[in-house]
Amino acid sequence: PPDVEQLGRATWTFLHTTAAYYPARPTTQQRANMLNLLHSLPVLYPCSHCASHLGETMRTNPPDVSGRVALSRWLCERHNEVNERLGKDKFDCAKVDERWKDGPPD
Ligand code: FAD
Repeated sequence: PPDVEQLGRATWTFLHTTAAYYPARPTTQQRANMLNLLHSLPVLYPCSHCASHLGETMRTNPPDVSGRVALSRWLCERHNEVNERLGKDKFDCAKVDERWKDGPPD
Protein backbone atom coordinates (compact mmCIF):
# COMPACT_ATOMS: atom_id res chain seq x y z
CA PRO A 1 0.00 0.00 0.00
CA PRO A 2 1.18 3.59 -0.59
CA ASP A 3 2.95 5.56 2.15
CA VAL A 4 0.02 7.74 3.25
CA GLU A 5 2.25 10.48 4.71
CA GLN A 6 4.51 10.83 1.67
CA LEU A 7 1.54 10.60 -0.68
CA GLY A 8 -0.19 13.29 1.38
CA ARG A 9 2.77 15.70 1.30
CA ALA A 10 3.16 15.21 -2.46
CA THR A 11 -0.57 15.64 -3.09
CA TRP A 12 -0.92 18.76 -0.92
CA THR A 13 2.13 20.22 -2.70
CA PHE A 14 0.52 19.59 -6.08
CA LEU A 15 -2.93 20.86 -5.02
CA HIS A 16 -1.81 24.01 -3.16
CA THR A 17 0.66 24.91 -5.91
CA THR A 18 -1.93 24.37 -8.63
CA ALA A 19 -4.40 26.56 -6.68
CA ALA A 20 -1.72 29.24 -6.16
CA TYR A 21 -1.21 29.51 -9.93
CA TYR A 22 -4.88 29.08 -10.92
CA PRO A 23 -6.13 32.16 -12.79
CA ALA A 24 -7.75 35.06 -10.96
CA ARG A 25 -10.46 34.98 -13.63
CA PRO A 26 -10.62 31.39 -14.92
CA THR A 27 -12.47 30.55 -18.11
CA THR A 28 -15.50 28.27 -18.02
CA GLN A 29 -13.25 25.50 -19.30
CA GLN A 30 -10.64 26.08 -16.58
CA ARG A 31 -13.33 26.03 -13.89
CA ALA A 32 -14.78 22.82 -15.27
CA ASN A 33 -11.35 21.18 -15.40
CA MET A 34 -10.57 22.21 -11.82
CA LEU A 35 -13.93 20.85 -10.64
CA ASN A 36 -13.19 17.58 -12.44
CA LEU A 37 -9.78 17.36 -10.80
CA LEU A 38 -11.18 17.99 -7.30
CA HIS A 39 -14.21 15.74 -7.70
CA SER A 40 -11.91 12.95 -8.91
CA LEU A 41 -10.04 12.86 -5.61
CA PRO A 42 -12.73 11.22 -3.45
CA VAL A 43 -13.06 8.57 -6.19
CA LEU A 44 -9.42 7.96 -7.13
CA TYR A 45 -7.17 9.05 -4.24
CA PRO A 46 -5.24 5.90 -3.27
CA CYS A 47 -5.90 6.16 0.48
CA SER A 48 -9.47 5.02 0.81
CA HIS A 49 -10.23 6.41 4.27
CA CYS A 50 -8.63 9.74 3.25
CA ALA A 51 -10.74 9.75 0.09
CA SER A 52 -13.97 9.08 1.92
CA HIS A 53 -13.31 11.81 4.53
CA LEU A 54 -12.58 14.21 1.69
CA GLY A 55 -15.79 13.23 -0.08
CA GLU A 56 -17.79 14.02 3.06
CA THR A 57 -16.12 17.38 3.62
CA MET A 58 -16.59 18.28 -0.06
CA ARG A 59 -20.31 17.57 0.21
CA THR A 60 -20.57 20.01 3.13
CA ASN A 61 -18.21 22.55 1.53
CA PRO A 62 -18.35 22.39 -2.27
CA PRO A 63 -15.19 23.61 -4.04
CA ASP A 64 -15.04 27.32 -4.91
CA VAL A 65 -13.36 27.45 -8.32
CA SER A 66 -14.28 31.09 -9.03
CA GLY A 67 -10.66 32.28 -8.84
CA ARG A 68 -7.25 31.66 -7.31
CA VAL A 69 -7.83 33.46 -4.00
CA ALA A 70 -11.10 31.65 -3.27
CA LEU A 71 -9.74 28.29 -4.41
CA SER A 72 -6.55 28.62 -2.36
CA ARG A 73 -8.61 29.44 0.72
CA TRP A 74 -11.06 26.61 0.12
CA LEU A 75 -8.18 24.14 -0.16
CA CYS A 76 -6.44 25.55 2.91
CA GLU A 77 -9.62 25.04 4.91
CA ARG A 78 -10.01 21.44 3.73
CA HIS A 79 -6.34 20.75 4.57
CA ASN A 80 -6.91 22.27 8.01
CA GLU A 81 -9.81 19.88 8.57
CA VAL A 82 -7.41 17.00 7.94
CA ASN A 83 -4.77 18.64 10.18
CA GLU A 84 -7.33 18.93 12.96
CA ARG A 85 -8.44 15.33 12.57
CA LEU A 86 -4.81 14.17 12.77
CA GLY A 87 -4.04 16.38 15.79
CA LYS A 88 -1.71 18.64 13.78
CA ASP A 89 -1.48 22.42 14.10
CA LYS A 90 -3.83 24.53 12.02
CA PHE A 91 -2.22 26.49 9.20
CA ASP A 92 -2.87 30.26 8.95
CA CYS A 93 -4.73 30.54 5.64
CA ALA A 94 -3.61 34.18 5.27
CA LYS A 95 -0.17 32.68 4.55
CA VAL A 96 -1.01 30.34 1.65
CA ASP A 97 0.59 32.57 -0.98
CA GLU A 98 3.71 33.02 1.12
CA ARG A 99 3.99 29.24 1.50
CA TRP A 100 2.96 28.12 -1.99
CA LYS A 101 3.59 31.04 -4.37
CA ASP A 102 5.62 34.03 -3.26
CA GLY A 103 8.00 32.64 -0.66
CA PRO A 104 8.86 34.46 2.57
CA PRO A 105 8.89 38.29 2.52
CA ASP A 106 12.36 39.86 2.48
P1 FAD B 1 1.15 17.93 5.33
O1 FAD B 1 -0.14 17.96 6.07
O2 FAD B 1 1.30 16.94 4.22
O3 FAD B 1 1.40 19.39 4.77
C1 FAD B 1 2.50 19.68 3.90
C2 FAD B 1 2.87 21.14 4.07
O4 FAD B 1 1.74 21.93 3.72
C3 FAD B 1 3.17 21.55 5.50
O5 FAD B 1 4.50 21.35 5.81
C4 FAD B 1 2.79 23.03 5.53
O6 FAD B 1 3.85 23.83 5.08
C5 FAD B 1 1.70 23.12 4.50
N1 FAD B 1 0.35 23.19 5.07
C6 FAD B 1 -0.12 22.59 6.19
N2 FAD B 1 -1.42 22.85 6.36
C7 FAD B 1 -1.78 23.64 5.34
C8 FAD B 1 -3.00 24.25 4.97
N3 FAD B 1 -4.12 24.11 5.70
N4 FAD B 1 -3.03 25.01 3.86
C9 FAD B 1 -1.91 25.19 3.12
N5 FAD B 1 -0.73 24.64 3.41
C10 FAD B 1 -0.66 23.86 4.51
N6 FAD B 1 -3.60 11.27 6.42
C11 FAD B 1 -4.19 10.46 7.33
O7 FAD B 1 -3.49 9.87 8.15
N7 FAD B 1 -5.56 10.35 7.39
C12 FAD B 1 -6.37 10.99 6.51
O8 FAD B 1 -7.59 10.85 6.56
C13 FAD B 1 -5.77 11.81 5.52
N8 FAD B 1 -6.52 12.45 4.59
C14 FAD B 1 -5.92 13.13 3.59
C15 FAD B 1 -6.69 13.70 2.58
C16 FAD B 1 -6.10 14.36 1.52
C17 FAD B 1 -6.96 14.94 0.43
C18 FAD B 1 -4.68 14.45 1.45
C19 FAD B 1 -4.04 15.15 0.29
C20 FAD B 1 -3.91 13.91 2.46
C21 FAD B 1 -4.50 13.25 3.53
N9 FAD B 1 -3.73 12.68 4.55
C22 FAD B 1 -4.34 11.92 5.51
C23 FAD B 1 -2.28 12.92 4.65
C24 FAD B 1 -2.00 14.09 5.61
O9 FAD B 1 -2.82 15.22 5.32
C25 FAD B 1 -0.53 14.57 5.54
O10 FAD B 1 -0.19 14.85 4.21
C26 FAD B 1 0.49 13.59 6.10
O11 FAD B 1 0.11 13.21 7.41
C27 FAD B 1 1.89 14.25 6.16
O12 FAD B 1 1.77 15.40 7.00
P2 FAD B 1 2.84 16.51 7.20
O13 FAD B 1 2.77 16.92 8.63
O14 FAD B 1 4.15 16.10 6.64
O15 FAD B 1 2.35 17.78 6.35
